[in-house]
Amino acid sequence: MATYNAPLVDFKFLLNEWLNIDAHYQQINAEGMDSELALEVLAQGAKFAENEIAPLNQHGDEQGCQLTNGGVTTPDGFAAAYQTYIANGWNAMLGSADFDGQDLPYSMAVPVHEMLNSANLSWRLTTMLTESAVLAITKHGSEELKQRYLANIISGEWTGTMNLTEPHAGTDLSLLSTKAEPQADGSYAITGNKIFITAGDHDWSENIIHLVLARLPDAPKGVKGISLFLVPKINVNDDGSLGTPNAVSVGSIEKKMGLKGSPTCVMNYDGARGFLIGEEHAGLACMFTMMNDARFQVGLQGLGIGEASYQGALEYAIDRLQSRAPQGVQAPDKKADPIVFQPDVRRMLLIQRSLTEGCRALSILYAKYMDIEKYANGENQSNAEAVIAYLTPICKAFFTDMATEVSNHGIQIYGGHGYIREWGMEQYVRDTRIAQLYEGTNGIQAADLIGRKLTRSNGEMMKITHAAFNEIVNDMANSEYQSHALGLLTQWQTVSESLLDKSPEHCAAIACDYLNYCAYTLIGILWLSMLDKLPNAENQDYAAGKIKTGEFYIASILPRAQQYLHTIEHGAESVNATDLNDFVFA
Ligand SMILES: Cc1cc2nc3c(=O)[nH]c(=O)nc-3n(C[C@H](O)[C@H](O)[C@H](O)COP(=O)(O)OP(=O)(O)OC[C@H]3O[C@@H](n4cnc5c(N)ncnc54)[C@H](O)[C@@H]3O)c2cc1C
Repeated sequence: MATYNAPLVDFKFLLNEWLNIDAHYQQINAEGMDSELALEVLAQGAKFAENEIAPLNQHGDEQGCQLTNGGVTTPDGFAAAYQTYIANGWNAMLGSADFDGQDLPYSMAVPVHEMLNSANLSWRLTTMLTESAVLAITKHGSEELKQRYLANIISGEWTGTMNLTEPHAGTDLSLLSTKAEPQADGSYAITGNKIFITAGDHDWSENIIHLVLARLPDAPKGVKGISLFLVPKINVNDDGSLGTPNAVSVGSIEKKMGLKGSPTCVMNYDGARGFLIGEEHAGLACMFTMMNDARFQVGLQGLGIGEASYQGALEYAIDRLQSRAPQGVQAPDKKADPIVFQPDVRRMLLIQRSLTEGCRALSILYAKYMDIEKYANGENQSNAEAVIAYLTPICKAFFTDMATEVSNHGIQIYGGHGYIREWGMEQYVRDTRIAQLYEGTNGIQAADLIGRKLTRSNGEMMKITHAAFNEIVNDMANSEYQSHALGLLTQWQTVSESLLDKSPEHCAAIACDYLNYCAYTLIGILWLSMLDKLPNAENQDYAAGKIKTGEFYIASILPRAQQYLHTIEHGAESVNATDLNDFVFA
């Protein structure tokens, strides 16, 4: 299996020279934050990812998780790595200082999260959901719940889960039937079955805090009748100590295609003691705090896997000797040339790298707006919220679709060896595939983008996002890049506006095409902006290859946007002309 090396050089360029993070921290008054601290956090995060969890990745896939009478056990080494992680404060990176968190900016945390995903996605998944649970409790929990639970979840002493899915309620949460009966002491008795619950049980921590969607007896039908509850695995006493086990159990763990080191649990709640988070019947809105964070984080999973697969493919392409290069012999002292000299292999490496690094730039821009939302107020804050809302489905769906494409190229570069487990390349394909499905399938992300974010806001969020990208275009020094980027941005706005008066049925048919068009175009603008800055980059050895990668994106990947544009304009009719009888006939 290839060795993972965190892309610190690329992060350094993006943060220091592309984003100008020192100016950014000054603008948002992020006291005590600067580029020196950011690079130190990243360097330490890289060490943890490379040395502690990357070495466990393949073995975790092989050993998997087990359910015994004592609960779920995770692969050897996973729990110990988690103890190192929390002892070094990584779990608390984003948590509020009021509950002993470090309150660091997202621009520091997002690159660390990407590295964790590259190193070991199964391992990372548990900590990711714990962070999202912290957000939901921080934003919607009562003061009493926060005091009792938050510090221990932020530190990582306890982990968190997200319980939405039921056998008959996946995408459509209005169908969920788990019940919550009010009790005399103000708590609720939760009864029902949840499936596919990530880290529903494990051997990492003494307690697990489940966030569970359920219905009160008098709840209105549909999504307006769902409430959110905090349900601990072990009840917590008034003095904060652990009490009796709650009526929560694991029915089974799923056998699945990938992410074998992550326990995916069927959870049974049999009158378990739970506590309301937020208002009654307003649970979905509270859960969306958790889900929106998790959606971007799932996007980062795709980014992490894309990088890991690219690194593995590059290492192999340099080592593997096959054939002579068409441009002439490259290694006369050897029986054949390394396959990296084959233009077709370099084409695949460039697809991998240009997509991955394009997505990374978008993730850093997203982190910038998360910082603004966190530190600023007034119009700056509400504009940042709109940009984040617009970009979230794009990051979730595009990064994870990208990862499936990129990791398949990883296998292709290895030839038949890519299909053999020993090399680790097929694990990336298996591990990343779920990211296109969970946290709302990518089809649902596209529906969210074109429905809630574009048409329902009457184009408002898109216009605010346009202004954010316009700033990037205005900042370009090279007039050729600038006019290209401006053309892309103008076309994107026109195309988006052309959809505002289209019917829901029309929009649904081309939603995925619109999402892809947005992603290829917006990332194209980011590549042009990076190309604009790279000639003056401090590290010119790195810049030379990155410039060629960006030029490849513009020449060979960006044209995909125009194909999606064609489908946006002409695709809906043929989809909506069909009905069930056209698929099912006698
Ligand atoms: C490994 C793993 C881990 C998971 N972790 C968790 C977890 O921690 N917590 C949790 O609650 N859940 C979790 N899930 C569940 C996951 O989020 C769901 O599987 C996912 O949301 C899709 O739901 P579904 O599987 O029921 O598919 P369905 O909802 O049945 O969808 C099937 C297909 O129909 C499409 N579709 C459905 N409705 C629409 C619509 N309105 N518009 C367009 N297309 C539509 C979907 O896009 C999809 O292609 C996990 C799943 C797995 C496999």
